[in-house]
Amino acid sequence: MDKLTIIVPCYNEEEVLPVFYKEVKKVLQGMPEVEPELLFIDDGSRDNTLKVLRALRACDENCRYLAFSRNFGKEAAMYAGLQAATGDYCVIMDADLQHPPALLPGMYQAVKNEGYDCCAGFRENRKGESALRSLLSKAFYKVLQKMSHMKMEDGAGDFRMMSRKMVDAILSVKEYNRYMKGIFSFVGFDTKWLPFENVERAAGKTKWNFKSLFHYALDGIFSFSTTPITIAGVVGVVLFVLSMLYGLGTGISTLIFGNEVSGYTTIVCLILFLGGIQLLVTAVIGEYISKTYLESKERPLYIIKESC
Ligand code: UDP
Ligand code: MG
Repeated sequence: MDKLTIIVPCYNEEEVLPVFYKEVKKVLQGMPEVEPELLFIDDGSRDNTLKVLRALRACDENCRYLAFSRNFGKEAAMYAGLQAATGDYCVIMDADLQHPPALLPGMYQAVKNEGYDCCAGFRENRKGESALRSLLSKAFYKVLQKMSHMKMEDGAGDFRMMSRKMVDAILSVKEYNRYMKGIFSFVGFDTKWLPFENVERAAGKTKWNFKSLFHYALDGIFSFSTTPITIAGVVGVVLFVLSMLYGLGTGISTLIFGNEVSGYTTIVCLILFLGGIQLLVTAVIGEYISKTYLESKERPLYIIKESC
């Protein structure tokens, strides 16, 4: 019998966990061919999530949990889950039921019998989300794909079932700055896409706001692309050529036509403009250096305070 590990990162999900558990159990009852393992990762929740998990464990042997010593983020929680999973197949699901458990049998069918190593949910729309957030997200994924030359589409999230082969491949990517969407795409493997509808979370609140999404977006770009450095180089070349042309023009105008060299304002503008660009480029380089700095420390991605 195959073992299926369901990895569930949880951060302040006390309200929704009992509902999630019930829904998943219902679906699992229709899958007698698999032995389930529910692996919850408590990502340093400040509410009673850990108590709920202890209670679930007490009444269900198939439930396990890891509890982090503080909030390390969803990326770390997913990595910890994949490391601790003992299943032949693993699936990552959000605790808020935005990833419909009803898709699990279809996913299992795809990875077990249809020759895929991965079957991923594809969110078809962004219903219930603000128009501005949808627009920015869509634009971001377009830019990211162009910059990284990797397939990372809007809608393709972390909800996916994977074979042991693919899980091991993901675990072999040991970088500290983990951008899971990029890593899924990096390791490759044949993926089947199952569309699903976006729904509001069943209970509780989202952990994302514009600021955190913005940082997440920048992380994606700097982790999977060096295009910003290339752009900086191109800007440098263009400015160099323009300044040469401007110098040539001024020289001709002064030497041949005898015009006076003027332009206090032009000089001030140019100094500010170039200063601004130089700072921007320094910041871009700094971003890569700081990432390298964090990688070189080789700090653990998470610290566990309790597990079972
Ligand atoms: N999550 C986590 N650590 C965090 C933030 C979120 O483990 O620091 C979990 C959260 O409990 C949920 C999943 O990641 O199971 C998705 O989070 P959320 O629903 O807040 O994100 P959204 O669906 O709004 O993108
Ligand atoms: Mg959610």
